[in-house]
Amino acid sequence: MLELSEYKTILDTIPAAVIIAVPVKQDEKITDFSIVYVNECFRNLTKNFIKEGVLFSSFKEKISQDINWFDMAVETIKTKKTIEETFYSHNFSIWIQLVEKCVPGDYVAVSLTNVSQAKEYESALSEQNKKLEEVTSQLKSSRLNLDSQLKNIQQLNEQLLFAAYHDSLTDLYNRSWLSTMMKVQIKETTEKNEKFGILLFDIDNMKDINDSRGHNAGDELLKQVATILKLMESKTVTATRFGGDEFVLLYKNIKDRDEAIEISKKALRFLNAEGIGISGGISIFPDDSKKTEDLLKFADMAKIEAKKNGKNNVACFHSLMQEKFLSKLNIETKMSKAMASRNFQLYYQPQFDAKTKELRGFEALLRWYDSDLGWISPEQFIPLAEETHLVVPLGDWVMTTALATIKEWEMKFSFNGIISVNISPVQFVQEDFIEKLFKKIEKSGIDKKHLEIEITEGVLIDNVEDTISKLNKIREQGVGLSLDDFGTGYSSLRYLQLLPLTTLKIDKSFVSNIAEKDGFEAKLTESIISLVSKMGLNTIAEGVENEEQLKMIQKFNCRTIQGFLLGKPMPKEQCEKLLVENLGKTSS
Ligand code: C2E
Ligand code: CA
Ligand code: CA
Repeated sequence: MLELSEYKTILDTIPAAVIIAVPVKQDEKITDFSIVYVNECFRNLTKNFIKEGVLFSSFKEKISQDINWFDMAVETIKTKKTIEETFYSHNFSIWIQLVEKCVPGDYVAVSLTNVSQAKEYESALSEQNKKLEEVTSQLKSSRLNLDSQLKNIQQLNEQLLFAAYHDSLTDLYNRSWLSTMMKVQIKETTEKNEKFGILLFDIDNMKDINDSRGHNAGDELLKQVATILKLMESKTVTATRFGGDEFVLLYKNIKDRDEAIEISKKALRFLNAEGIGISGGISIFPDDSKKTEDLLKFADMAKIEAKKNGKNNVACFHSLMQEKFLSKLNIETKMSKAMASRNFQLYYQPQFDAKTKELRGFEALLRWYDSDLGWISPEQFIPLAEETHLVVPLGDWVMTTALATIKEWEMKFSFNGIISVNISPVQFVQEDFIEKLFKKIEKSGIDKKHLEIEITEGVLIDNVEDTISKLNKIREQGVGLSLDDFGTGYSSLRYLQLLPLTTLKIDKSFVSNIAEKDGFEAKLTESIISLVSKMGLNTIAEGVENEEQLKMIQKFNCRTIQGFLLGKPMPKEQCEKLLVENLGKTSS
């Protein structure tokens, strides 16, 4: 058995704070403990107030009121087990671990260890765990949200895809689908070394029917034609409503021109049997051309030939017609000359806040007047200008002119709105597009927030990464970015999340149908507007022509409108009158 003196020699050297106490007994009952030894470390820790000879009962409050040293010591003597407690000492402002242990000779050894650091870690850990739990549950709920949003987006995408490629009146495929399909067909047919043909036709005397029996009768007739064409559809024959009363039948994998004529005559017979007369033209890939646009143009020329020859017939495109087509060259030459002699003009169409009708700004639109041909629509000459790349210098001119207008209006009217400028994909993909644009902007001295650039989904076809990087550069300059004609082509809501857009322009084909009874376009438009607004984008409805459409657009909370109802494209001088009326009211 160790003597007290021997404990002392060991205990003086250890770094823990230790005291040794002996029980104080009265009639064999332990009533207190008397300290017989205090080691160096303990003295330091308790600042010397616990010394040899002191009783437990006299100091316990000084360390902690919650801990009963006496009970613990009695317990350890009785059970010979080590007893531990951790407590916070308000006197020392630390966490202390107290261990009482019975040592041979019925001594009680009490050790105190400062465990504040460990305690801090523990509470920091539990705090962290709590936070982690919170974050996990937040994550869980936002994941649920995200899932439902993604599902929503997927559904909208599917509807968009249907709307983008179908005609809402007849449910046949539409023009966008046809041009995509013809491109696919050209590739496949070339690989397989086959031929395909198209028949483009329209309904004879459609105008008379509309005029004499009304538009509803006209619509019914179009639906009837669609029903008959659907009956003709097969693996190799597909029907499309090309626009207005024009339809296209596409014949895959045909032997020769005769086979195309044969199928076309069958369509003619079916339609005639229902009392419907048509005139159509046929063109063949690759015999007549290897290009989609040419095949459609050639079929159209052949259709005109069929009409000239007495209607209700189909005709084939033949090389003689090509001469007439060469007049395209004529237009190109004229376009180059018009560029040189500044025969193009820039018109501006106003955009207004849908609710307050405040002026938001203008879209710059090209106009071309030729002394022989009269007004030529941009829808005709822009595709030609793109094909010949004349759109690059032409687009440069548009940008310079629009920037000069912004500057002039900033000075004259403190213009605080936006002018948006259309950029063709052909311009956009030019390597020096960004560099040239920034130089022009710099030179003009405009406030960049007054310029917005309109791109179409066409710029995304080739190199999405390059496109996004260019768009980011434009955005970084503080220039606005809007996506034009949304809903017509490759429309995908997924793109929207990738592009640094500020504005989305909903195509007029949507707007023109939103007041229709079945409500498909309306529902889709409303969902798109709501989703896109949540993404923080401005929405512009294009082609608002009547009050009914305006009401729907307002109901859907679309922010901005552009359309004939509130303002047609007009020359700069006319816009200035509008600016004077709205002076100080423009909202950017
Ligand atoms: P866009 O960019 O979609 O321009 C809107 C077109 O819708 C304009 O036709 C405008 O006059 C027309 N519009 C506006 N409100 C209404 C309405 O209420 N009802 C109807 N039915 N139409 C409305 P526009 O001026 O004939 O231009 C046609 C297209 O030509 C433009 O479509 C754009 O793609 C292209 N374009 C015009 N100017 C330029 C240009 O400077 N550069 C490029 N790259 N393309 C241009
Ligand atoms: Ca536009
Ligand atoms: Ca547009």
